[in-house]
Amino acid sequence: MGKEKKRVLIVGAGPAGLFCAYRLVEAGIPVLLADRMREAGRKFLLAGASGGLNCTHAGTPAELSEKYYGNEALFQGLLEDFSPADLVNWYKTMGSDTFVGNGGKIFAKLGAPEILKRWLKQFESSPLFSFQGGCEFTGFGERQGQFKFRHGNQELEIEAEYAVFALGGGSRPETGSNGAWTDAFQAAGIQVAPLRSANCGVEVQWSPHMLKRIASAHGSGTSLNIALTCSGRASTGEVVLTGYGLEGSGVYSIGYYIRQELAKSGSCKVGVDLLPGLTPEQLARRLSRPKGKESLSNYARKALGLAGLPFVLFKELEPAGDLSKVKNLSLSVTGCRPLEEAISSAGGVCLSELDDNFMLKTRPGCFVIGEMADWEAPTGGYLLQGCFSTAFRASEKIIDLLS
Ligand SMILES: Cc1cc2nc3c(=O)[nH]c(=O)nc-3n(C[C@H](O)[C@H](O)[C@H](O)COP(=O)(O)OP(=O)(O)OC[C@H]3O[C@@H](n4cnc5c(N)ncnc54)[C@H](O)[C@@H]3O)c2cc1C
Repeated sequence: MGKEKKRVLIVGAGPAGLFCAYRLVEAGIPVLLADRMREAGRKFLLAGASGGLNCTHAGTPAELSEKYYGNEALFQGLLEDFSPADLVNWYKTMGSDTFVGNGGKIFAKLGAPEILKRWLKQFESSPLFSFQGGCEFTGFGERQGQFKFRHGNQELEIEAEYAVFALGGGSRPETGSNGAWTDAFQAAGIQVAPLRSANCGVEVQWSPHMLKRIASAHGSGTSLNIALTCSGRASTGEVVLTGYGLEGSGVYSIGYYIRQELAKSGSCKVGVDLLPGLTPEQLARRLSRPKGKESLSNYARKALGLAGLPFVLFKELEPAGDLSKVKNLSLSVTGCRPLEEAISSAGGVCLSELDDNFMLKTRPGCFVIGEMADWEAPTGGYLLQGCFSTAFRASEKIIDLLS
């Protein structure tokens, strides 16, 4: 690794760290990239593992910024500086076209493994870049610009003019992002909001009958076309019933509001519309058909097309069987799934600790980017876009400082 002082040390080889390295090397700045894992980009690979890499989202910076809950103004600026269109162009430079899928999600045509391979290949040919795997950041050194690491059994110190931390959140620790860095940052007096599950399943205490029906439906699919609401926000995307509760992008899209409610009272009422395709007027018209002696299940199937698992869910939530409530049901969410299972995490280095360029106010020369900073967004490409845009902002500042 060499004892000489590094120009720029980047710790964390996820998309944020890799993109920051890419920009600095492109600007002619030497970079040492270190990661606790032997290989780079493990979570990036996981993100692209099923259904293709949803790398960003279509829309203007103002439209997209609404998804970065509570940090809209900050992200509008970040997305203006490095927009989805810029990211799409960057994927082109990696040899991957993109396409717009459902609901404005933008996907890379190439798979994540191929993109990562090409990305790393660009570094291999540069004398300005070096990578140190198996090297875990353990804390800040005594002096400014000194950073402590564990490499195998060895404790070592690396000195650098500038350091960029891109250590990710705490979900899916098998990818390397285990959130253990929070201790080192807190020990250095840096405020860190606790890492919490985001974009995760939620827990519902189903009845034994419902549990049985979910278990037996597994072969035929438990993904439902239903709409959820929480705190006046409507879900978008599929909702999957599981033994522990609900999963799927529909849940993730309102997960932030569910968590807010859970934090207040320990449980959260979520509105359920089992027939989002029907207007209330259409529902009333269909229910004006006399039921006669038909069983409830037959009537629901014929009048409303409500059958199978959605009907079972209806009975679970409305035991009295009043079909006029089918668009207006409610279920109790009792918690979120554990962080290890989540797609991303909320919490991280508090934004109040960072200046506009994501530099730590109390540690000039040290930057914090990507998911380890305290911002969050739903799935749909917003997370990766946020990681790239924060990396862009910090890299611009470092290029400016070193030019
Ligand atoms: C299953 C799944 C699907 C996803 N799908 C999408 C999607 O479709 N679209 C989307 O936008 N986002 C998606 N995401 C989220 C996205 O992958 C992350 O937001 C993104 O990878 C975060 O990038 P990052 O660079 O900030 O951190 P990470 O990718 O988490 O990288 C952090 C790096 O830091 C290293 N590290 C951690 N601690 C230390 C330490 N102490 N010392 C040294 N190195 C350390 C880790 O080993 C890791 O390599 C998905 C995530 C998952 C888990």
